[in-house]
Amino acid sequence: MRGRRIRRAIGGAAIAAIAILTGVGMWQTSRPAPSSAHVLSRHPRAVMGTTCLLAAVAEDSDIGERALREAEAALRRVEALMSSWLDDSEISRLNRAPLGKEVSLSDETLKVLRAARGVASASQGAFDVTCGPVIDLWRSAGESGVYPSEADLRGARAFCGWDHIELTESGAVKRTVEARVDLGGVAKGFGIDAAVEVLAEAGMLGGLVDVGGDLRCFGTDPDGGRWRVEIKNPFGEGPLAHLRVGDSAVCTSGNYARFVEIEGRRYSHIIDPRSGRPADAVPSVTVISRSAMTADMWATALSVLGEEGLDLLPTGLEALLVLGSADDFRILCTQGAQSLIEAPHPVRLVIAERGLPQTQGSMPERGE
Ligand code: AMP
Ligand code: MG
Repeated sequence: MRGRRIRRAIGGAAIAAIAILTGVGMWQTSRPAPSSAHVLSRHPRAVMGTTCLLAAVAEDSDIGERALREAEAALRRVEALMSSWLDDSEISRLNRAPLGKEVSLSDETLKVLRAARGVASASQGAFDVTCGPVIDLWRSAGESGVYPSEADLRGARAFCGWDHIELTESGAVKRTVEARVDLGGVAKGFGIDAAVEVLAEAGMLGGLVDVGGDLRCFGTDPDGGRWRVEIKNPFGEGPLAHLRVGDSAVCTSGNYARFVEIEGRRYSHIIDPRSGRPADAVPSVTVISRSAMTADMWATALSVLGEEGLDLLPTGLEALLVLGSADDFRILCTQGAQSLIEAPHPVRLVIAERGLPQTQGSMPERGE
């Protein structure tokens, strides 16, 4: 059973934002790579059920290779702690725990749970890792191909929410036996942060960790400039835009990337906790932040909230939303995100002042 579920996760994953290892740097960082620097990369298989790229710009290739191996180990450690696909992870243990029994958790898992609880509140419940019962219901519906009944939906929703899970100093306690946590919308980001910290602490001049299209980079790219990141077109092949980023995380969520198919229709793997139904309205959301964990959570939250969610986005985070459909879409982005987009700007780009969406410059006509 587990093997099959993991294969489905791999098969359904698509790279949303791709780190580009070559390409001319446009902005110099404070520490340009010397011409003697080594560009090293590693493509570990089946990390967090998806594709993975680790890259480092290193003065010493042996130290660089070791750092990449340790960065991969950091990612795998996070997966082993937090994946609900693995029966012996801390999260699976918590999900199986009886009512009222405290399950002790690592500092890492507790940190992620506390951060997730904070974003649940900041996003007015759009991001909610306690929605495990509803997420599982839709996953099963995808496997059976049968749409869940209203009664099943009502039943699963009754067990969602932070009232059902209590966090303690060193662990968590279930207050309802059916409560289940799902860290699928945040653990990847946390793992990316952990892996990047390994590379930075090992003294790399620059580095990048990309797991399934969510990524974080720092320092110099192989050409001594900023890292170039591709934002995938949610409606087809090829890029929608390119960003140039320094020390940043770029995470993308989208209903095109992973989905379940029920009765011949595709449904997003992202659930709107308010309705208990898949959040299908926003084709793609990219969030840029210093922390991949934060960007990961808010990309999922904005997939639920859409344009209105920009009012809730904390200062320091930037976002780019693709709204509409293949033949009638627009790209709505914050000013900070727009400043990262490489020229020429994509067509149908609209700048959103936080809380005051407005069009800037002339928006090209469709088809231009
Ligand atoms: P992402 O691809 O980062 O947007 O994360 C999507 C994954 O997060 C799903 O596959 C679920 O495991 C989980 N998830 C789905 N909906 C939500 C939600 N509203 N809040 C938190 N996690 C969610
Ligand atoms: Mg996410």
